[in-house]
Amino acid sequence: MAQAPWRVQILTLFPEMFPGPLATSIVGTALERGLWSLDAIDMREFGIGRHRSVDDTPAGGGAGMVMRADVVAAAIDAARAVAPDLPAVYLSPRGRPLSQRQVKAWSAGPGLLLLAGRFEGVDERVIAARGLEEVSIGDYVLSGGELAAMVTIDACVRLLDGALGQPESLLEESFENGLLEYPQYTRPRQWEGREIPDVLLSGDHARIAAWRRAQAEALTRERRPDLRPARKSSS
Ligand code: SAM
Repeated sequence: MAQAPWRVQILTLFPEMFPGPLATSIVGTALERGLWSLDAIDMREFGIGRHRSVDDTPAGGGAGMVMRADVVAAAIDAARAVAPDLPAVYLSPRGRPLSQRQVKAWSAGPGLLLLAGRFEGVDERVIAARGLEEVSIGDYVLSGGELAAMVTIDACVRLLDGALGQPESLLEESFENGLLEYPQYTRPRQWEGREIPDVLLSGDHARIAAWRRAQAEALTRERRPDLRPARKSSS
């Protein structure tokens, strides 16, 4: 029996943004091949009244508008009626930083229900009432959660079985083993007076592996001392 595709439901006020860039390259090919599926659900359809209103002024005053809990909850409930088992994530600058570890865990599951906020964000009560996990893609503020959702989807989909032509390329990527990736080179051998390091042309695989590991460790110490390199395996 064919495996069900990895499923994404995205709740948004701008469904026309999808698939957008997700229709391109590796992730787009995976979509075409049915490795994953995408439902862009327009939260406006759950809006209140003739104008399908989705937001209101903040309780307590202040600038901007807030997405209504009842509207967001109705959209989440409709999505869950179709796919009850997806982890539900609210993309939010207040959230836990997105990590490769988290992306791996999600890509091994059934998919994701993603809520893209707009305005000043969503009413706090719906986050608790629907058990949404808040996840941030970085310490800056976007105008909406759609681009953050796309980043999350891209990072997960490329890890799905069959998405990458050469899955072994995943083994040594940045953040594997708590390290940034070593420097990469390709032809020409000499370019603008700069050479490819000799060791990479030596054909000595053990020396190359040791050089790459040392480079990765040095780069990680310099740029990301917060990462914790895993011990080198003895095999
Ligand atoms: N008032 C909010 C705050 O200060 O935390 C920012 C709201 S932002 C203008 C609108 C929406 O963009 C948010 O509800 C969220 O969905 C999304 N967003 C903005 N920055 C994000 C980030 N760094 N990571 C994930 N989502 C983000």
